[in-house]
Amino acid sequence: MTRPEVPAERKSLVYQPSCGPVSGVDLPAELTLPGTVATAGDRGLFSAMHPLQCVLQVQRSLGWGPLASVSWLSLRMCRAHSSLSSTTCPSPERQEDGARKDFSSRLATGPTFQHFLKSASAPQEKLSSEVEDPPPYLMMDELLGRERKVYLETYGCQMNVNDTEIAWSILQKSGYLRTSNLQEADVILLVTCSIREKAEQTIWNRLHQLKALKTRRPRSRVPLRIGILGCMAERLKEEILNREKMVDVLAGPDAYRDLPRLLAVAESGQQAANVLLSLDETYADVMPVQTSPSATSAFVSIMRGCDNMCSYCIVPFTRGRERSRPVASILEEVKKLSEQGLKEVTLLGQNVNSFRDNSEVQFNNAVSTNLSRGFTTNYKAKQGGLRFAHLLDQVSRVDPEMRIRFTSPHPKDFPDEVLQLIHERDNICKQIHLPAQSGSSRVLEAMRRGYSREAYVELVHHIKESIPGVSLSSDFIAGFCGETEEDHVQTVSLLREVQYNMGFLFAYSMRQTRAYHRLKDDVPEEVKLRRLEELITVFREEATKANQMSVGCTQLVLVEGLSKRSATDLCGRNDGNLKVIFPDAEMEDVSNPGLRVRAQPGDYVLVKITSASSQTLRGHVLCRTTLKDSSANC
Ligand code: SAM
Ligand code: SF4
Repeated sequence: MTRPEVPAERKSLVYQPSCGPVSGVDLPAELTLPGTVATAGDRGLFSAMHPLQCVLQVQRSLGWGPLASVSWLSLRMCRAHSSLSSTTCPSPERQEDGARKDFSSRLATGPTFQHFLKSASAPQEKLSSEVEDPPPYLMMDELLGRERKVYLETYGCQMNVNDTEIAWSILQKSGYLRTSNLQEADVILLVTCSIREKAEQTIWNRLHQLKALKTRRPRSRVPLRIGILGCMAERLKEEILNREKMVDVLAGPDAYRDLPRLLAVAESGQQAANVLLSLDETYADVMPVQTSPSATSAFVSIMRGCDNMCSYCIVPFTRGRERSRPVASILEEVKKLSEQGLKEVTLLGQNVNSFRDNSEVQFNNAVSTNLSRGFTTNYKAKQGGLRFAHLLDQVSRVDPEMRIRFTSPHPKDFPDEVLQLIHERDNICKQIHLPAQSGSSRVLEAMRRGYSREAYVELVHHIKESIPGVSLSSDFIAGFCGETEEDHVQTVSLLREVQYNMGFLFAYSMRQTRAYHRLKDDVPEEVKLRRLEELITVFREEATKANQMSVGCTQLVLVEGLSKRSATDLCGRNDGNLKVIFPDAEMEDVSNPGLRVRAQPGDYVLVKITSASSQTLRGHVLCRTTLKDSSANC
C-alpha cells in the first residue's frame, strides 16, 4: 500500500504517519547553522544589497536563533533604498495604490537597523498568540485581516494538516475569514512539503495555476495575495521569491505567528518573508481550530523538529531542532477535544516518542534516556524532562472513552515503560508505527538510522511479546544510495519476516542532505521503481495474510460515517487503525438493553470480521457499546 495523497483540495483528519502521504512513488546548501549576529559594521554590506538579499543574509547569520521578524528588516532596507524601490520593492501595478505613499512616509520614521538587531537578539520571553505591538511603521489596523478571505491548501503529512489549523487559528484572531472557495479568496496560502522532489513539483505546478488566477483578477477587487508556508518556504527561500514574483509571503514552519504582519507588509505591495527557525516555538498556546463539526478524531501536535539527521532526510533542515510542547498545554487541548465529543486523538510529531518536556524543573533531571535495546542516537545523550511514557499515561487518563494514537515515532525510543503502558491501558491503541527504512544493516548504516537489522528485528519481537495482537506498520525507502540487489532482497525478507499490517513505501528522492553531499544517488530510476514495485507486492501479500488473522474475530470499531463506496455501508477504524466496512443495520445498544439503534459517527460498535484484504476488513455489526464495556475478542 502506498500512502494516499493529500490532494490539492484541503482534506482534514486523514490518518497518515508524519511527513509521508505525498505519494508512495515519486522520482525524481548545506545550511548555515548558528552564526554571529550582524554588527553595525555590516551596514555597509547590507546597503549594497537588494533588500531581500539583505533580509536573507541576516536570517542566515541568525541561523537557528530566536524568532524574529524578517519583514521588519525588509521594510527598513526598502527605506534605505528608496531610490531603488520602484524596481526592488513594489511592482508598478501596486505603486498605483495610494496606501503605498502613506506607507513610505511612515517607513521614513521607522526604526533603524540597530533597532531590528536589538529585538532579534533579545531573549524570547513569551509565547503568545496575541498580536504583538506593531512596529512603528505599521498601524494596528493594518495587522488586522479586515475580513479578507483566506483559502488554505494543505500538502504533505499530518503535521501540515495540524499546522494549517495553527496558521488559521492565528489569522482568525486577526480578523481574517476563511473560505473553501478558491474564487472568492483574497489570500491563498499553500502549506507545503519538501520531503520528496515530487512534493515540491506539485507546488510549483500549483503556483502556475494560481498565477493565472492572480493575473485575471478584476481591478475592482483587492489584489490577490499568495503565500507559501511550511517546509518548502523554509528550504527554498529566495528561490521561490525570485522564480515566482507572484508569491507575496513566505513563512517557515516556525513563523506562523508572524503571518498577520507578513500579510500586512504584502498589502503594501512588497514580498515579505520570515523563515527563521526557532529553538522553542511549539505553538503551545495556539489551539488549532476544529473545522469539521462531524469529526470523530483530531490531531494534537506534541513536539516539533528532529535532531536525528538521517542522511536522506530534509526534515531537520526544514523543521529545525527538536522541541516539545509542555505537558500541561497538551492535556488542556485533549480535555477540550474530549468536551467537544471527539473520540480519538492522534499525538503528532516528527519523532513523537522522543518527547521531552523540559519546561519545568524536575527532580530527576539527571536521569539519562532509556533507548530501545541496540539503538543509538546521532546526537549527544539528552537527560531529564518529562518523557513520552509520562505524557501518554496522562493523556490516556483524560477520557477513558477517547482512543489515543501517536505518530510518527522513531524505533529508538520504545523503552519498556512505553510498551507496558500501551499494553495495559484500554484506550491506547495497540498499534505501533515502526519505520524501518531498509532491511539491510549496511544501508541502515549509510542512512544513519542508529540500528542494525538485528536490533530492529529484536525490537519487533519484543514489541509483539509485550503487546499481544499489536498491529505494526512501517516506512521503507527503495533505492537509497549504494543499495545493491542483495540489500534489496534483505528488505524484502524483512517485510516477510515482520508481516506488517500497514506500510508506506517510497522510492528514494535525493534531497540536499548529508547523502547529497557525501553519497552517490547511483541506483537508476527504473531500478528504484522496480524495487519499489516489488516491495509493494510483497507488502500486500504479507498484509493480507496478517489481516486475515482477524477473520472470525469480534473487533471494536469507531464509526466514522458512510462508506465512500456504498450508501448502505458504514465505515470505521479498528484499534489497529485498519478501515472496517460493515452494512448499516439496526443493532442493540449495550448501555440501554432493549433499545435498537443505528450507528452514528463517533459511536463504538462491535463488528464480527468476515473478510480481509491488504487494506480493509469487512464484517457485520453486532451492537453499539462503549470502549470500557467492549469485549472485543481479538
Ligand atoms: N521520523 C520518522 C522516522 O524517522 O522514523 C519518520 C518521519 S519521515 C519525515 C517520513 C518518511 O518519509 C520516512 O520514514 C521515510 O520513509 C520517508 N522519506 C524521508 N526522506 C525521504 C527521501 N529523501 N526519499 C524518500 N523517502 C523519504
Ligand atoms: Fe527524517 Fe530521520 Fe528525523 Fe525521521 S528521524 S524525521 S527520517 S531525520
